Amino acid sequence: MGAAGALCFAALMVVSGLVPRMSALDGESFSALWPAGGIPILWLLVRGARTVSVDSALLVAAAYAANLVAGADLGLAAVFAAANVVQTWVAVLLLRRWCPRLWGCGGQAPLDRPRSVAGLGAALVVAIAVGTGIGTAGALLLPDQVPGGFGTVDVALWFGRNLCAALIVLGFGLLLGQRITSPRPRPSARGEGGVIELTAALTFTVGMYALVFQFDDLPLTFPLLAASVWVGARFSTLVSASHSLVVGLVTMALTLNGTGPFAGVDDVALGYLLAQLYVSTIALTGLAIATGRDERVALADELRRTREAAVYEERMRAAVIGSMTEGVLVVDEAGDLLVQNEAAARALGMAAPLSAGTIAAIESTRLDGSEVTKDHQPSCRALAGEAVYDEQLLIRIDDGTERVLTISAIPLPRDEINARARALMLIRDTTSDHANREELSAFAGVVAHDLRNPLAAIDGWTEMIADELDAGALDAQLAQEFVSRVRSASRRMRELIRDLLAHATSSARDLDVGKVEIAALVREIAAGRHAEGQVSAEHAPAVLGDPVLIRQVLDNLIGNALKYVAPGEQAKVAVRGARTDARWVTIQVADNGIGIPEGDRDRIFEEFHRAHYREYEGSGLGLSIVRRIVNRHGGTISAMPNPEGQGSVFEFTLPAYDA
Ligand code: ADP
Repeated sequence: MGAAGALCFAALMVVSGLVPRMSALDGESFSALWPAGGIPILWLLVRGARTVSVDSALLVAAAYAANLVAGADLGLAAVFAAANVVQTWVAVLLLRRWCPRLWGCGGQAPLDRPRSVAGLGAALVVAIAVGTGIGTAGALLLPDQVPGGFGTVDVALWFGRNLCAALIVLGFGLLLGQRITSPRPRPSARGEGGVIELTAALTFTVGMYALVFQFDDLPLTFPLLAASVWVGARFSTLVSASHSLVVGLVTMALTLNGTGPFAGVDDVALGYLLAQLYVSTIALTGLAIATGRDERVALADELRRTREAAVYEERMRAAVIGSMTEGVLVVDEAGDLLVQNEAAARALGMAAPLSAGTIAAIESTRLDGSEVTKDHQPSCRALAGEAVYDEQLLIRIDDGTERVLTISAIPLPRDEINARARALMLIRDTTSDHANREELSAFAGVVAHDLRNPLAAIDGWTEMIADELDAGALDAQLAQEFVSRVRSASRRMRELIRDLLAHATSSARDLDVGKVEIAALVREIAAGRHAEGQVSAEHAPAVLGDPVLIRQVLDNLIGNALKYVAPGEQAKVAVRGARTDARWVTIQVADNGIGIPEGDRDRIFEEFHRAHYREYEGSGLGLSIVRRIVNRHGGTISAMPNPEGQGSVFEFTLPAYDA
């Protein structure tokens, strides 16, 4: 403890000693006011002092001196000092144990809970009862040092003055200390009441006390309590404690002065006792009311914060669920739809918001076409407690198309209010993924087959060449024949690989659209194929498309038209285009070839499907590339017999350039 601290404590103790001296009853060694009941407790609490410390030593010395000053003999003063010291330490230790969250007792909180007031009151009552016990025992053991004897009233007076002082000093001191040391900004010191109301309450207090202490022959003390209730109910706990402090001091001072209702009691000591009881009551009442209000306000605040947090969380949840690309549904066992997002409606091909009924009406099957019974549906299984991950189902939607959905269904904790099982469903439309996968596996199978065939041919022919060489009888003409077959097999492989690459890029390449003049492009392609005389290009409106991909379309179609002609016949190809509506240009590639059997007209656009695979070479990929490119531009393509006679017409649409 620094010198300033020691000086301060000493000064406080002197006051603690002088006040009792001034307030000693005539002919008695006991005093009516005893600040030493509260000040040392507050001091040790605030200093966080330990039992063996300089503070403790000073306390012992000051308590002894204060008792001597208050008029006790040496022996009695020692006993009373011991009682004071024990009482002080019991109070400090109990407060630290019972009110650990309070500022000064180990925590940072102000005195703002009735529970804390109860803890404070209980700790002080127990400690002061211990002190009173020791003091009484000492007075009984040293009867000659107690002139007037030590009766029940003296015991009660000892207890009362200590409790009164401790309640007032600690209530006020702990609140003030907390407020001064708490970080800014601090809450309003006034509480709910405004300045005008505070002035009114103080005027009321002064008026009431003046009235009561003036007409002390009337039993008028009860209106005084109203002042404490008013201040406690409407102003901060600190204001209420300050009010109690001032009112308590004034009451005791006036009573000591022989004024007021308590001084009117015949037995002076009993009057003091009543006054102390009164002051303790108003201090406790004020604190209880103010802290009760503080607690209510804190709870209301917490409720408001919780509500705000709930609203924020709800908004946040809605935003997160709404922004998800995956469909989210929460269903319960009664069939109610508790949560949904737009992606769920999109995946199911329905309009948002969904209703429980529309979802129940969806027909679904497994991918192999087998039926899914109600009990086996992902939602039912999740409601029964099973977690289902990535189950693929086929659903038929209103426009007649089918979709592949990948669904996960996870059981959620039971709804406690309705005691219903709930399940979270996550839905993804994986139709195109599924189609891609199917396509890929078909593709891989055919590619493996079509590449293996020419490779086997190459193997076979080269082996024969080696055998003939070994036999030493390789005839030059035979060798030429073998080599030409190897060459043709390797050319087939090269063409297949080229088509495969074109097929892959036709879907992977980003569209880079611009103006494309069809007639000019057709002339270029015909020139590239040295078939200018066979290909005619009429004027056609410009289209909006990716020039590289559109060249591929026309090249494939013109190539087929030149290829699929009867042997010995001269191929004739006509390309024409016309605006069919405001947005689209329809282009026709007509030939005089062998035509397409009716049953193959749609299927020739599928990968590897060939209508004339025996007589003509090819990979069966060209038209699938063509359809994919046309579709990517938003157009469609079909094949039909040539109305002008033999041959076929391939007709497709592309966006008009100036649409
Ligand atoms: P490829 O020509 O490599 O066989 P395509 O995908 O280009 O593959 O064509 C698929 C099939 O469609 C061909 O095998 C052929 O049977 C048929 N076909 C395509 N174009 C014509 C055409 N102009 N006339 C007759 N048949 C055609």
